Amino acid sequence: MYCDFHAHTSFSSDSEAAPQAQIKKAISLGMKKLCITDHEDIDYPSEYGMPFVFDYDEYYACLSELRELYSDKIELLIGVELGLQPHLGEVLAEYTANHKFDFIIGSTHLVDRVDTYYPEMFTGLSEYDALLKYFEELLLNIQTFNDFDVLGHIDYIVRYTPSGGLMYNCHDFDDIIDEILNYAILHGIGIECNTARLGSGFLHCNPHEDIIKRYRELGGEIITLGSDSHTPRTLANKFKLAGEILKEAGFKYYTVFKDRKPEFLPL
Ligand SMILES: [Zn+2]
Ligand SMILES: [Zn+2]
Repeated sequence: MYCDFHAHTSFSSDSEAAPQAQIKKAISLGMKKLCITDHEDIDYPSEYGMPFVFDYDEYYACLSELRELYSDKIELLIGVELGLQPHLGEVLAEYTANHKFDFIIGSTHLVDRVDTYYPEMFTGLSEYDALLKYFEELLLNIQTFNDFDVLGHIDYIVRYTPSGGLMYNCHDFDDIIDEILNYAILHGIGIECNTARLGSGFLHCNPHEDIIKRYRELGGEIITLGSDSHTPRTLANKFKLAGEILKEAGFKYYTVFKDRKPEFLPL
């Protein structure tokens, strides 16, 4: 089983999964490495009533203990999913400089401080305009701060559009997506194949398979696999299919990280 490098636990406000439960599930699937990546969304808008930040010392101590406990069965890596916002460049740079992680995902969840998860994101906007705004914000975010290892779920907003992703054609956004991918490649940043929605309704991974293919065409080599699982039930969701998607896109290897350094494993 491929290693899952995007998994949440109860250290994230939107998950009730015990870290141990995620680890046990990974072991039962025959996974050799698992990276827990809980949400750290600094300055997440308070009106949503979810803090989306964890106590670093508590997090690191808990996962270090579990890493030790299960070390003969699986290698546990300690990661984080950092929420990016354009005004946070310096704050995030200070955070990553002062906190040790094996792996950092940089994710855009907000546009103009509105969470794309909520319908208000789409009020008064066509789906095209909402998506374009999302990609523009993502580009601005990474131009402001780039001390992370992979870009999380590049077209994340598609999960929540009023049409449920049906009106999405990623080629409508080729120019800005090329700009994002070229920026990432130039700065040694990878992408992830996020399988949270793969095979269920929307049927695509995030980003869309064509964007993964484009990243490879442009010379990108760093790609992780992440289920974005918030419960053990969905850990490694559709990873077999994801492996086929990566091979189809021209990858021979996928990537895992330790101490922020990439290692390439055969697909
Ligand atoms: Zn995310
Ligand atoms: Zn996530």
